[in-house]
Amino acid sequence: MAIVMDFQEEKREKKPIGWNGRTLVQMITESEQQMRETGRYCGTERLSIKESDPIFYEKIWSRLRGALVGARETAMHISASPITREAGELCFCLYTPEGDSVAVSTGIMAHVHTMSDGIKHMVRSDYEENPGIAPGDVFVNNDPLLGDVHNADVQEFLPIFHEDELIGWAAGVTHELDTGSPFSSAHPVGVTSRYEDGWILSCEKVGENDRLNRDYENRAQTATRMPFYWILDEKCRIAGCQMIREAVLKLVGEIGIEIYKTFVREVIEETRRSFQQIVRTTLVPGTYSFAGFMDYTHGADTGRMPDYAAVDTIQHGPLQVKIERDGRLLMDLDGANKWGHHAFNSTTTAIQAGVWIGLTQTAIPNEKVNDGAYLATETRIPPGTWANPQMPLVSTNLSWCSFLASITGLFKALSTGFVARGFCEEVVAGFPWTGNITQGGGINQHGADASWCNFEMSCCGTSAGYVRDGEHACAAVWNPEGDMGDLEAWELIEPLLYLGRRIRPSTPGMGKHRGGSGFESVRMVHGTKRQELFNIGYGKVFYGGGLFGGYPASTTPRHMVMNTDLEERISKRQPYPVSVRDIENSEMEGLVNGDELLDRNAKNVPVTTGEYDIYVSVLSAGHGVGDVLDRRVEDVIEDLNEDLLLERFALSAYGVVASRGEDGKWTADLAATEARREEIRKQRLERSVPVSEWLEQQRPRVARMDFSKQTRKMFRESLGLSTWWAEAFRDFWKLPGDWTFPEDNEPK
Ligand code: MN
Repeated sequence: MAIVMDFQEEKREKKPIGWNGRTLVQMITESEQQMRETGRYCGTERLSIKESDPIFYEKIWSRLRGALVGARETAMHISASPITREAGELCFCLYTPEGDSVAVSTGIMAHVHTMSDGIKHMVRSDYEENPGIAPGDVFVNNDPLLGDVHNADVQEFLPIFHEDELIGWAAGVTHELDTGSPFSSAHPVGVTSRYEDGWILSCEKVGENDRLNRDYENRAQTATRMPFYWILDEKCRIAGCQMIREAVLKLVGEIGIEIYKTFVREVIEETRRSFQQIVRTTLVPGTYSFAGFMDYTHGADTGRMPDYAAVDTIQHGPLQVKIERDGRLLMDLDGANKWGHHAFNSTTTAIQAGVWIGLTQTAIPNEKVNDGAYLATETRIPPGTWANPQMPLVSTNLSWCSFLASITGLFKALSTGFVARGFCEEVVAGFPWTGNITQGGGINQHGADASWCNFEMSCCGTSAGYVRDGEHACAAVWNPEGDMGDLEAWELIEPLLYLGRRIRPSTPGMGKHRGGSGFESVRMVHGTKRQELFNIGYGKVFYGGGLFGGYPASTTPRHMVMNTDLEERISKRQPYPVSVRDIENSEMEGLVNGDELLDRNAKNVPVTTGEYDIYVSVLSAGHGVGDVLDRRVEDVIEDLNEDLLLERFALSAYGVVASRGEDGKWTADLAATEARREEIRKQRLERSVPVSEWLEQQRPRVARMDFSKQTRKMFRESLGLSTWWAEAFRDFWKLPGDWTFPEDNEPK
């Protein structure tokens, strides 16, 4: 009996599962052809439901969106990982059978289109035929080449069937604590290839009948260092996807399958149109160019990495944002430099993650978000660059570092366009780098060989706007709902105690409006003799920067104290360090002795630490907007009184003459301040030269490429990869048409 049923089951699988008797391959081919031919999603001309009954239309939308948000809020409590549960690092989406996103939950907005790429990969490679797609199947993907940001983000896809038809996909993603790479961490620094990124599942079927297959569960027990969390994250994602599937089928039961099918087509087309409408209304057409940079400091890892990889790299992300008259938005990374033997290469899918965390927080914060908006944009990413290596074996586990730096240009471009159109409240001077990322591993305080990654970076400062200061320690560019998490939750899985956690003054970029502050965590290794600790901050280039004259936020140095005397101090009940506050007058002074490591190498192989060693993590702050001399004096005084600004910068940067009363409160000398500001303005005039003159002065230096070897390497790569960029560079610097990179000035 069982054999006969299996045979019938197999025969039934041959029947197409797409709509109206078509296969999924036929569906995606047709959909793409219609988009090409008509410029509209699936050729949709009329928004029939919206036009005939707009309230009914919005109710369907709210049901679906509500189901996704509800699934996220419920499922996050199934996970035990503090990254998911405390920091909210997860997201759920609903897709069409072809893999176009219909609606997205709150959370990591990066995944508007990443999981689309994963599902589309399964559709295009005819998973319908092999391995087959059936009700109750569970697919997992964390392959950045097929549709992910990095392999720490694990995605779950559950097909939603109505009778014999696939009507969509429920999908969810969480960020894992460990991916099983040679270094203990979810995103190891110091690796040079994909083989070292850890466990990669390439859109694999890992479950049937709503259960994970035992072989997959077995593999998960040893593939990473944190199997308990891996499996609980699996349950979190599957539970969320099942909730979405139930909600969709309940809705279909109420409104009928034909209305549902029509709705998902129309809502994607409506979102495409509304995205273009918003771009037309709020931005001025034109080309906006801004470059972003990131530093990779493997030069300091000589001897610990292969020679060819132990080099310093500046990543170049020259972003051109083109706003077309019809409201289409083009992003072009032509001129980006080469991929490298490091963990910071990106993929075309990862760039999409950056684009959508940018656009959902600027252009379309209140609108529907789905692949309709994606279809209203175009992203050009030249091959051979860090953003599109075309080398499948390079490491991409920290792609965030590179593409976020480039996306700083998107924020600046949009903000400039908003101001030009008079939408001043929409302006933001970009977002800070979400670091320092504290992560590490080794034998932990429970005696297990484990690894961890701290997500308090979900609470960086935000940047200033045109009419407001930034907010302190509250968000991450990739997760506006982020949270720093209770430190006790991190201490459960990390063998480092928090000695202190506080806002760190003078981390924000200054300006007429300053950025929001970052914070510092002072940690002490505890309960283990050995722990490998990473830093993932930035120290040698500014990340992003201020806008309209505002200053960039401070960099995030690497700061540790090894071989300390804290065991003795603690046993004698003596005071111990709880903060640094000011790197030039550290509050740790006199409270700990040991070997201090303080430098600007912020992306390196891990440092080996022992018990009672100190690790200081500086979390990023936001950038400033506008001239520092235009900041209201009372705001500078308030910053001093709130301990957000180090006293020396009140005078040197803001020109505010302030003194501290016996009550500890700061007050300004208004007359002296006015005089000082006048003096600074005068000095500025004396120092300044016309731009044309400055360009003249600099031209010979540029022609010789008289720059640091890291800068020369960066320019050489960009000039070599892009004819367009090379021409633009020669034009800008008025270099002869035959000018090429000087041969006699070879960088290492
Ligand atoms: Mn992630």
